[in-house]
Amino acid sequence: MSGLILEQAQNLLLERVNMIKDAEEITLWDAGGRVLAKDIYAEHDQPPFPRSPLDGYAVRSADISTASKDHPVRLRVLEEVDAGHVGSRCVEPGTAVRIMTGAPIPDGADCIVGQEDTDYGEETVEVYEPIGSYENYCYAGEDYKAGTKILGEGLLLGAVEVGILASLGLEGVSVYRSPKAAVITTGDEIILPGEELAGGKIYDSNLHTLVTRLRMWGMEVTAKERVGDDAAFAAERIREAAGNADLVITTGGVSVGKKDIMHEVVKLLGCETIFWKIAVKPGMPTLCAQYQGKLLICLSGNPYGATVNLELLVRPLLCKMSGRPDLKIRRVRAVTESTFPKMSRVTRYVRGYYENGKVRIPDGSNASGILSTMCGCNCLIEIPAGTSRLERGDTADIILL
Ligand code: AMP
Ligand code: MG
Repeated sequence: MSGLILEQAQNLLLERVNMIKDAEEITLWDAGGRVLAKDIYAEHDQPPFPRSPLDGYAVRSADISTASKDHPVRLRVLEEVDAGHVGSRCVEPGTAVRIMTGAPIPDGADCIVGQEDTDYGEETVEVYEPIGSYENYCYAGEDYKAGTKILGEGLLLGAVEVGILASLGLEGVSVYRSPKAAVITTGDEIILPGEELAGGKIYDSNLHTLVTRLRMWGMEVTAKERVGDDAAFAAERIREAAGNADLVITTGGVSVGKKDIMHEVVKLLGCETIFWKIAVKPGMPTLCAQYQGKLLICLSGNPYGATVNLELLVRPLLCKMSGRPDLKIRRVRAVTESTFPKMSRVTRYVRGYYENGKVRIPDGSNASGILSTMCGCNCLIEIPAGTSRLERGDTADIILL
């Protein structure tokens, strides 16, 4: 029995989580990538006053209706208004106010003549072109009006949305808190960077790969530690980590070896097992359980297997928990420029580079213990169960990373 198909596994997990609706107030500087917890209404018009879109002269359109290069209209210049300042004069027939871009349009004026259509006069100005009423005129509230709902609850805040919040004059914003994830790696052979590479040991790459990826997705990582292959100790560390996380992710110890401790850990914790094994390569022995209402996702220790299953199983969960649509799994079709010779009984995910509708597999090993050839890869090529081989020119489904 090779396990659940991926979609069933994803659904079994997804039905056990909800979007986290705890709100917190943060500064706009930290708001990118967060999800808005409240509707936002404008308290003022934007712009708050009618403003000039040009450097030129605020005039009455009726005064300059006959203006031309040969027969310019001469107007008396009352004053100059620069951006950030308010003038004191009203434009009366036969007069103009020198005005700069972004400055408030004075009362009486109904259009702006660009300075290129004048003689740039200081005391008086000659206008060479007629301008229609309310041409070159930015209305107050042209962007949005006071009282309008500007951004809705649940919206993902990107650069533009944060800019809009700033245009409203806000310094902070109420957002939903990010999911908290704990990452624990297992294995007596695993040592941390900085420790001495003794016989039989390897450095822990999973902890860094997983924590980095989770942070790239905007998650708060509340624990990141390595435990050995002692089930009781691992269970204790998971118990503690779960107290301060919405989700616990482990790597290693899920297969059928003597030291595959996670089966024992799940028992020690009194977890409900949701599934063990998925029909996916790499990462077939993935084990998922629920501990005190929180998901415990136990990924294979193989670095490529752990990386792929973080994308396939954990990313959709975090998408739902955080309410971030940008974390949805993104699939596209691509024409392969490589051949993949192996046949597989289960769906296989092969590392690839995707660009402009084409995908290729990097040179070197694609084995699940190999991480280095995944360097620079930006997608997983999905090879459906039972496909005999992937040939150059075949079209494949790919998952963008
Ligand atoms: P396991 O799933 O525990 O049987 O581990 C499968 C393979 O992945 C073994 O070769 C482990 O040494 C290796 N491995 C397990 N955990 C890690 C880790 N955190 N970093 C790098 N390699 C690991
Ligand atoms: Mg192990």
